Amino acid sequence: MRVLVTGGAGYIGSHTCKALALAGHKPIVFDNLSTGHRRSVKWGDFIHGDITDPTAMGEALAASRADAVIHFAASAYVGESMRLPRHYYRNNVVGTLSLLDAMAARGMRRLIFSSSCATYGVPETLPINEMARQAPINPYGDSKLVCESMARAAATADGLSCIALRYFNACGADPEGEIGEDHDPETHVIPLILRSAAGGPAFTIFGTDYPTPDGTCIRDYLHVSDLADAHVRALDHLSEYAGFEALNLGTGHGHSVREIVHVVEQRLGRPLDLRQAERRPGDPPELVADARRAAATFGWTPRYSNLSTIIDTAWSWMNAQVTS
Ligand code: UDP
Repeated sequence: MRVLVTGGAGYIGSHTCKALALAGHKPIVFDNLSTGHRRSVKWGDFIHGDITDPTAMGEALAASRADAVIHFAASAYVGESMRLPRHYYRNNVVGTLSLLDAMAARGMRRLIFSSSCATYGVPETLPINEMARQAPINPYGDSKLVCESMARAAATADGLSCIALRYFNACGADPEGEIGEDHDPETHVIPLILRSAAGGPAFTIFGTDYPTPDGTCIRDYLHVSDLADAHVRALDHLSEYAGFEALNLGTGHGHSVREIVHVVEQRLGRPLDLRQAERRPGDPPELVADARRAAATFGWTPRYSNLSTIIDTAWSWMNAQVTS
């Protein structure tokens, strides 16, 4: 299939382009390079443009001659969304609407949408399955929830086939070292711990008074290559599917911030330089996926998502960037 990948120059997008190409598909990246990198577009053509620009979006769809779209392009920092909510609604909601308009205008019906566990807010029960109440506690999660609602309505009204993949915490890097996580500024826990391990600034734990066994937040960390693999499987599934479906992508196991610190300290053989700070606004205490539906729907199981592999691949990628 020819697949237009919005945000394909970004972290999850570029790993998915690699997985698509390896599976025999043809990715075409559409990205404004606001946070993505031109050097990460290695598996197909590149079209520079912004999803919130309806003309550019429509032209890209036409030029790509795509059979399907995978839509990653979005602003994706919880903390930043608390400070810049209008930016998040514009980029994520208006951008997705512009894509849905362009797809409808061309009769394009296949969409994989990049959603998030942030749409659940603070869960009532764990692990979180897809039927759980969606009550986001930050504008990022809310913007993704609105996009899901728009895609669901378009499935009913326009015959769109859409699978929304609700990611838990993406992390790690391509095991072959071709691409990895490269955010500026970096706000994610694993790269920040590793930067500290490599001699960078002390690592700050946000919140040590959460109602969790060690007081720090628990997340479900999923290796980016497993996430990429799920997109390829979802795309194949979409060929036989009509309507809207949402699926969680996670491992079903949670790790606290202190646990990650501990694994890295064990690898290093010495303690990290740690600080403790207040809770970061917008952070729920614990998010762990029930991802059995994705496993049952398209036979997906994570292969790289144990903490050691995640940390080893992220560490190799980070060190290769420093030495290159
Ligand atoms: N975190 C932390 N220190 C940092 C960055 C993150 O303690 O410098 C915590 C954060 O509060 C959250 C977890 O690590 O509980 C995962 O945060 P991240 O930003 O990596 O992902 P998010 O869950 O926000 O998507």
